[in-house]
Amino acid sequence: MHIDILTLFPQMFDSPFGASIFKRAIDSKLVSVSLHNIRDHTHDKHRTVDDYAYGGGAGMILKPEPIFEAVAAIKATIKEGAEKLPVILLTPQGRRFCQEVAGELAGYSRLVLICGRYEGVDERVRQHLATDEISIGDYVLSGGELAAMVVVDAVVRLLPGVLGSAASAADDSHTSGLLEYPQYTRPPLYKGWSVPAVLLSGDHARIAKWRHEQAIQRTRQRRPELLEKIDLP
Ligand code: SAM
Repeated sequence: MHIDILTLFPQMFDSPFGASIFKRAIDSKLVSVSLHNIRDHTHDKHRTVDDYAYGGGAGMILKPEPIFEAVAAIKATIKEGAEKLPVILLTPQGRRFCQEVAGELAGYSRLVLICGRYEGVDERVRQHLATDEISIGDYVLSGGELAAMVVVDAVVRLLPGVLGSAASAADDSHTSGLLEYPQYTRPPLYKGWSVPAVLLSGDHARIAKWRHEQAIQRTRQRRPELLEKIDLP
């Protein structure tokens, strides 16, 4: 998968993309990321990316031209299917990001993410350029960069080969519609708190049954509304 990110602050991505699973995915060429500074697509001497809102009001709005030009420059490098390229605007007004949406986005070979700033982006970007709008939650961030990192992280770990074992994503919370069962590691006894005996039994069928029951119980206690969306065996 190749991901293009349009931002005014490309340096913000250095640290999260330079470590752990994400770095391994880049090193092993399972994913590649191009950061595009929106300011590089301006043509005036001050490299202006924002302007006052028509109608008044506090705060600045990101101008449409540099964003349209940045996306056009990306599309110009694509030999086939540029018209179908998913162009995602990060916005608190978008559809809510969740594991299902992450799975949907993981099915694409390319993604473009647009990070807004200030009071947001000119509405024409939403109307005539973005093919999708995503919100990572009902709160307002100062910019789309953190939202883009969240989306990219959740998507990339679903790409085949990125996680050590495919099973580790399959059991994750929200993948099957349930929260994950409780997990333990060594030591078996810590400060008097013991690991459930079934997990030490070596009986894989019993362990699987216990985990499934725990996942249901945990989901019922913490997020009962999730159970309404799935058919339990
Ligand atoms: N005035 C805008 C509104 O009320 O919809 C919010 C602008 S916000 C301060 C600046 C930028 O941060 C947005 O353009 C968007 O890219 C990003 N952003 C803020 N909250 C977000 C969220 N919950 N999900 C995704 N992006 C968000």
